[in-house]
Amino acid sequence: MVYVPVKPSYDADVIIAGAGPAGAAAACHLARSGASVILLDRMTFPRDKVCGDFVGPSALVELDALGVSQMDGYARTNIARRAALYIDGEELISRPFPEIEGMPSHGRVIPRLALDNFIVDAARSAGARMMDGYKLTGFAAGCEAVAVEAASSNGHLALRCRLLIGADGSSSTVARLMRGTAPPRRDRFIASRAYFDNVEGPDDQVDLYFDRNCYPGFSWLFPTGNGEANVGLGLALETWPAHNLTPAALLRRLMRDDAALAARLRNARLRGTIVGWPLMTYNHRLPIVSDRVMLIGDAASLINPLNGEGIQYALLSARWAAETLAPCLRGDDFSALALAPFAARVESAMRYDMALARLIVQFSSNRALTPLWIGASKILAARAHKDANTARIVSGIFAGLLPARDAFKVVGGTIGEAARSLASKAATLAFSGPRGWAGQGADTAHVRFQLASDAPGFAKWLAGAAACTMELGSQAAWNAVVGKRNGR
Ligand SMILES: Cc1cc2nc3c(=O)[nH]c(=O)nc-3n(C[C@H](O)[C@H](O)[C@H](O)COP(=O)(O)OP(=O)(O)OC[C@H]3O[C@@H](n4cnc5c(N)ncnc54)[C@H](O)[C@@H]3O)c2cc1C
Repeated sequence: MVYVPVKPSYDADVIIAGAGPAGAAAACHLARSGASVILLDRMTFPRDKVCGDFVGPSALVELDALGVSQMDGYARTNIARRAALYIDGEELISRPFPEIEGMPSHGRVIPRLALDNFIVDAARSAGARMMDGYKLTGFAAGCEAVAVEAASSNGHLALRCRLLIGADGSSSTVARLMRGTAPPRRDRFIASRAYFDNVEGPDDQVDLYFDRNCYPGFSWLFPTGNGEANVGLGLALETWPAHNLTPAALLRRLMRDDAALAARLRNARLRGTIVGWPLMTYNHRLPIVSDRVMLIGDAASLINPLNGEGIQYALLSARWAAETLAPCLRGDDFSALALAPFAARVESAMRYDMALARLIVQFSSNRALTPLWIGASKILAARAHKDANTARIVSGIFAGLLPARDAFKVVGGTIGEAARSLASKAATLAFSGPRGWAGQGADTAHVRFQLASDAPGFAKWLAGAAACTMELGSQAAWNAVVGKRNGR
C-alpha cells in the first residue's frame, strides 16, 4: 500500500482577530508579502473606537509605509505642529515638535472612525479578506492548523489557518485563551474621552494638563480641526485619586476647575457623551507568542504606562510580526520557537523604556509626594525655557519621538532641587510659628502629614518602588552586556 500525504486545507495562511491599527496593518504587510489573510472584526466598519486620536510622528512614518498618507481624505486630517504642557492651570512650556532625523516634525489628530478605516482600506487593497461583523469566540491550536470559531448575526462559522494573530485589543479573547488568565490588575490604565465643538485656541496645538487633583494622571485637548477637539483623561489605575468619582465625573471636574483647560473650553459644546475604556500596560512577564499564535498591539499590552499611548506600538508590532513571519511562512514552521524572534524584538524595543515609565508611575503614585513631583516638573519646565536641548528632550519624549531613557539627560538634579526647595520651605515653616504653618508651607505640611498618617501604604509604595527599580537596574545591566557584545 502506498501512503499519499494529504495536505491540510486552510481557509487562509493567517487569520487576524481585530481590525484596529495593529490587525489591519499586519493584514496589509502580510498580504503584500503574498500570504493569504482573513481579517475578522466583531464590529462593522467604519466603526469608532474610544481614543485620544493623537497619532505621533513615528506612527505617521508607519502609516506612510502602509500607503495611508496617499489616500483620499488623509491630507485633510488635522496637523499638530506644537505641544503645550500645563501644571495646575499654568503654562509651563509650549513648543513646536522637535526635528528628529527620519521623522516628520509634526503629529496628526485623526478620529479613529477615519484612521482605522484608512488602514483597513490599505489591507483590503493589498488583498486581505475583511470579514467584519464576525467575533472570534474561541480557537484551538493543533499540530497542523489553528481551528478558529467565529460568531456573527448570521450564526457560527469554523475556519482553519496556519497561524492566528490576536489583535483584538485590550480585552483580548485570544490573549486570555492563550495565557489561560487575564492580565494583573496593577497593569490597568483607565482613560476616557469626549468630543467638543467650538473650542478656543490654535487648531495645530495639542495640550497636556497636569493637575494636582489627578496627578500623575493627566488630561488632554487634541484638536481634530475646524474648532473641534478630543478632550480626555488618562491615569494608571494604581494612581486613581482617593475619591469615588467615575472617570467621566473626574474629567468633568478637571474641565471645570483646571484654569487652562477651562479657558479652551469656555464656549465649547459637548458632542455625544464622555466614554471610558480600560487599557493594559506593558508587562514583559506575559507571553506574546505560543505555538501558532501571536499577539500584537493592545492585545499584547503594548501600552506605555506613563501616557497610555499605543497606536505607534500597534503599528510597529504589526510590522515586526509580519517580518518575523516571512521565514515561518516559507518554512511552514509556526512553533513558539520560530515565533520567538518577534517576542525578543518587542522586548528589546520596549522593556527598558517601559520599566522606566513604570518606575516613574510607581514613584508618583504616592500622593503624599505630589508637591515634590509638581515642584520637580516646574523646575524642569523652567530649565526647558532657558535651555533648547532640555526643551527638545522634554517635548520629544511627550511626542513619542525620543525614548523615555533620554529623561536621564535632563532630570539629573531636578528632583534633588525640588526636594531642597520643599525642605527649605519646611525650615521656614518651622521658624515661622503656627501663623505661618497655615499659609506658605501647606505643601510641606501636606507631605509630612500624609507620610505620617499612612505608614502601611507608604511601606507598600516603597516595596513597589524597590521592585520597579530592580527591574530597571536589571534591564540597564542587560543592555550594557548586549551593547558590549555588539561592540556598542
Ligand atoms: C481614552 C483613550 C485615549 C487614547 N489615546 C491615545 C492617543 O491619543 N494616542 C495613542 O497612540 N494611543 C491612544 N490610546 C491607545 C490606543 O487607543 C490603542 O493603543 C490602539 O487602539 C491599539 O490598537 P489595536 O489595533 O491594538 O487595538 P484596538 O484599536 O482596540 O482594535 C481592536 C479591534 O479588535 C476588535 N475585537 C475585539 N474583540 C474581538 C473579537 N473577539 N473578535 C473579533 N474582533 C474583536 C475590536 O472591535 C477592535 O476593532 C488611547 C486609548 C484610550 C482608551
